[in-house]
Amino acid sequence: MEIKKKHIAILGSTGSIGTQALEVIDEHPERFVVEVLTANNNSSLLIAQSIKYRPSVVVITNGERYHEVNDVLSDLGIKVFSGEQSLEQVVENDNIDIVLTALVGYSGLKPTLRAIKSGKNIALANKETLVVAGDLITRLCHQHGARIFPVDSEHSAIFQCLVGEDYNPVEKIYLTASGGPFRGKKREDLLRVTKKEALDHPNWVMGAKITIDSASLMNKGLEVIEAKWLFDLQPDQIEVVVHRQSIIHSAVQFTDGSIIAQLGLPDMKLPIQYALTFPERVKNNFKRFSFFDYPTLTFEKADTKTFRNLNLAYRSLEKGGNMPCVLNAANEVVVEAFLNDKIGFLSMSDVIENCMEKITFVKNPSLEDYIKTDIETRILARELL
Ligand code: NDP
Ligand code: MG
Repeated sequence: MEIKKKHIAILGSTGSIGTQALEVIDEHPERFVVEVLTANNNSSLLIAQSIKYRPSVVVITNGERYHEVNDVLSDLGIKVFSGEQSLEQVVENDNIDIVLTALVGYSGLKPTLRAIKSGKNIALANKETLVVAGDLITRLCHQHGARIFPVDSEHSAIFQCLVGEDYNPVEKIYLTASGGPFRGKKREDLLRVTKKEALDHPNWVMGAKITIDSASLMNKGLEVIEAKWLFDLQPDQIEVVVHRQSIIHSAVQFTDGSIIAQLGLPDMKLPIQYALTFPERVKNNFKRFSFFDYPTLTFEKADTKTFRNLNLAYRSLEKGGNMPCVLNAANEVVVEAFLNDKIGFLSMSDVIENCMEKITFVKNPSLEDYIKTDIETRILARELL
């Protein structure tokens, strides 16, 4: 039987998720057509990817790199655009079946909204988009018949556990966390940690921003909020479990008390593939997990006294409105500052908390309110650095 090819746009194709998505596509060339590739600065990799995958359109967001990219790709009949707005326009193309959002941070919001409004399904890696505007995104998905397939490994796990359970209420979910490089450390140990130490994640190789978020537990906080919107849960139905081997990717507990979990090696290619091939499970050559390589799986509570970000995220979720947007914007500013040696590891939470206290609360934000909140929070967070 001939398989109908899926036409894919990969936003952020030069990043950690983007490049792994292309590896997934390499496994199944008979299933996918790459329509769009995008990068922010990395023109050389974008050019190399485009020569290999021959997308119809590429976007290099940074306008200064436009000519360099266009000079090579126009001869191949590939259209090249630059600027942030181009990201929003290219996702509307009728040829595209699914948009993989692998941009980092708030930059994913507008392109994701546009893709949803044009009825595209989304393979969502860019969790910040749901953190910032989860209510708006989920409403638009219903309105435009778009679906979101999670790429984040924990959410993919939950999504997989829920297949075939449409009519069975969920009691709670267990969101697993590796604990990052500083698991077991106390506040006094973290006073002077360097970015090099924070970037040294024990189980996953990822982009810099999410790696710092993992070290500070903000990543898990963002994922709690992401889970609320993806699976329509209340904050007290989401429990974080530190599981340092990253084998159980998350679990669902149903109302009869039964728990279903999804397991596998820590490799993002698996959740990326599932998001792209759902509802099918497609054979691949990825390395297999063996129980005998992992005789001990461990579970512990998160240390929220040391890693304050997790509680800040829960607090923002309980408050609702624009508060998660404040949390996210402040976090983006402090993570960038930490990566530029402008703030200490523990002080990041203080700035975020301060922003959550000072920015004007909006209970039912519109898109314009989110945009305004994001801008105001960034200004305040920079002042507080
Ligand atoms: P990377 O930093 O590795 O890659 C980000 C990609 O987005 C790159 O292609 C980059 O281009 C592009 N980009 C960055 N900023 C902008 C911008 N302002 N405008 C346009 N393009 C931009 O990130 P990751 O792949 O690690 O993460 C992507 C998303 O996936 C994040 O939201 C993250 O939380 C999520 N995620 C990642 C996981 C992982 O294992 N990496 C796991 C689960 C979720 P360029 O290369 O030119 O800079
Ligand atoms: Mg994750």
